Amino acid sequence: MQALPEFELLRPTTLDDARKARAAHPESQIIGGGTDLMVNIRRGIVAPPVLIDLTGVAELRKINADETSLEIGASVTLVELAAHPQVIKHYPVVAEAAAHIAGPMHRNMGTVGGNLCLDTRCIFYNQSEWWRGAIHHCLKTTGDICHVAPKSRGVCFATFSGDLAPALMTLDAEIGVARADGIRAMPLNALYIGYARQDEPQTATRGDGKHFLSLRPGEIVTSVSVKNTPGLRSAYDKIRIRRSIEFPVCGVAVALRRDGDALIDLRVAFTGTNSRPVRLEGTAALCGGTPDARVLQDLDALVRDQVMAMKTTFTPGHYRRRVAGVLARRLVTRLFES
Ligand SMILES: Cc1cc2nc3c(=O)[nH]c(=O)nc-3n(C[C@H](O)[C@H](O)[C@H](O)COP(=O)(O)OP(=O)(O)OC[C@H]3O[C@@H](n4cnc5c(N)ncnc54)[C@H](O)[C@@H]3O)c2cc1C
Ligand code: SF4
Repeated sequence: MQALPEFELLRPTTLDDARKARAAHPESQIIGGGTDLMVNIRRGIVAPPVLIDLTGVAELRKINADETSLEIGASVTLVELAAHPQVIKHYPVVAEAAAHIAGPMHRNMGTVGGNLCLDTRCIFYNQSEWWRGAIHHCLKTTGDICHVAPKSRGVCFATFSGDLAPALMTLDAEIGVARADGIRAMPLNALYIGYARQDEPQTATRGDGKHFLSLRPGEIVTSVSVKNTPGLRSAYDKIRIRRSIEFPVCGVAVALRRDGDALIDLRVAFTGTNSRPVRLEGTAALCGGTPDARVLQDLDALVRDQVMAMKTTFTPGHYRRRVAGVLARRLVTRLFES
């Protein structure tokens, strides 16, 4: 770890002041708990001259949860979210995902906004300046090659590893996004643009592991909200190398509804595999009957098609893909039978 560089820390106490501070300092970066950002600053990955700390903004620290809807402010901590009785009761997938993040101290400090906007990760990127300098850096910083895929033609495959996003995506969450002139709502799914396709040009809505969020300059994520679907059962599980504190090898969220013996609604989402959290497409075709061996095999085929794990972690990509399939099958079976 290197010493921290100089920066100015602004601590607004209202959202209005936070927006003004962001507009006045276009080169600033938002800081929630700082559990990821401070590590990246120390490693010389980023060096924002101004940090805007949102944790003193009271209106961003609220959780409103009941059986009809859930709204979580961006500065709510992970420990508050994981322990909220109404979230545990009505939105278990969200509470379980929050409880699975990092270790207890990170969850005390880490915020919902920071987790949703978490930087993507790669073994060639999350290293000290000295280490990265020894391999002439890479596309995600100042280099001109991807060490994971040297023929990537400018595409970075760094992996999104936040645990909350897939859980919230199975509930069709929306986020609030503030900028100088107002607040807009958008589907959480649309925040993530890390498609990392070599056969497509990068655009404002199709990026890669480097350009993985659709936020425009100066924007702040203020909240995330969900409407409850009666009868929905949901859960989150993940495999990690160290069970007490670790990013996911793969994390899987599942939400489903059953009517008698039939599966009538199935939503599956992943993290730790692609440059964005992936909401699995094509699950409607698996509904209509019981999730028997054939349905689970078809689920596995969808996972194999849509999970694109590269060599960005110490765990091989093909293993992470298999873990994704196993966790999804287990969760679907458990929730259907519960
Ligand atoms: C050892 C270790 C293990 C970890 N394990 C996990 C894990 O298992 N799962 C996991 O998900 N994470 C893990 N993390 C990462 C991190 O601790 C969590 O993701 C945490 O939730 C990040 O939240 P934060 O508030 O600390 O974010 P910060 O570090 O403050 O910010 C993260 C990023 O989000 C941006 N940001 C923050 N708030 C906003 C906002 N409101 N609007 C726009 N941008 C914003 C920041 O500018 C920054 O780029 C781990 C970290 C460590 C060090
Ligand atoms: S995937 Fe390639 S470009 Fe992206 S961080 Fe890793 S080495 Fe760098």
